[in-house]
Amino acid sequence: MSRTLTLAAASIAVGCAVLALKTFAWWITGSAALFSDAAETVVNVVAASLAFAALRFAARPADANHPYGHDKAEFFAAVVEGVLIIVSALAILQHAWQVWRHPAAISAPLQGLLVTAFASAMNLAWAGTLLRQGRRLRSPALVADGRHLASDVVTSAALIAGVGLVLATGLLWLDPLLAALAAVYILVSGLLVMRDSVGGLMDAAPAPEVVDRIRELVALHAEGALEAHDLRTRHAGRLTFLEFHLVVPGDMSVSTAHTICDRVETALKDEMVGLAVTIHVEPPHKAKHQGVLVL
Ligand code: ZN
Ligand code: ZN
Repeated sequence: MSRTLTLAAASIAVGCAVLALKTFAWWITGSAALFSDAAETVVNVVAASLAFAALRFAARPADANHPYGHDKAEFFAAVVEGVLIIVSALAILQHAWQVWRHPAAISAPLQGLLVTAFASAMNLAWAGTLLRQGRRLRSPALVADGRHLASDVVTSAALIAGVGLVLATGLLWLDPLLAALAAVYILVSGLLVMRDSVGGLMDAAPAPEVVDRIRELVALHAEGALEAHDLRTRHAGRLTFLEFHLVVPGDMSVSTAHTICDRVETALKDEMVGLAVTIHVEPPHKAKHQGVLVL
């Protein structure tokens, strides 16, 4: 198993352990806030399993059916993760509404809070690992998972504080109110996870600083060419596909033009990991007098 897959599998195990702990905390307290915490963790387990399946599929090499590879599968997993986060937020809102109308006292609060705090500490440690390794391995699915867990830790901390406040003040309505606030926060984080991955599926343009660096590198290494224009990029997991037009003098030989293309490609690939470059060579009358490189 690759490192990415091992991390994804470990995520499922961590999710199950945290879920068991949080369900136990809700069970002994009957608190709406702790219910919302446990409900959200069900999503973590499902999302981690989906990420694992998607990463297994994404790891397949390019084939005749999918010549660009299977890496986009990771974005699908992340979009579904966003949808699941939103569904769990709605379930929490519904539960909070019920408890709001029929408030009940919280039992065994201290034990419940301690168990939840311990589960959250596990989540925090694992979120850090996923974010670090996910960025290093350039895996959108692992990074989405890490971000998701990190946002859960924030929610749990707020809920623990909230239940503590209920105990201190005796105001039972604070419990469903905090659950509802946590649900709104979870809803927003679900939308953000989705936005990022939909951007990947829709081939959103890379960050301006990346485009600037590509321009710089093309300008530095395309000596002999006249112009480069129509630069476009697409993303799929850890891969980036880059294409542009390169205008060269009309009487330049194919081999010379090709040598320039190879030089530019090597320079780009040396600096940017997982880059696949396609360059379309054109004669001078195709020049646009604008774009990446104009001499
Ligand atoms: Zn295929
Ligand atoms: Zn052109």
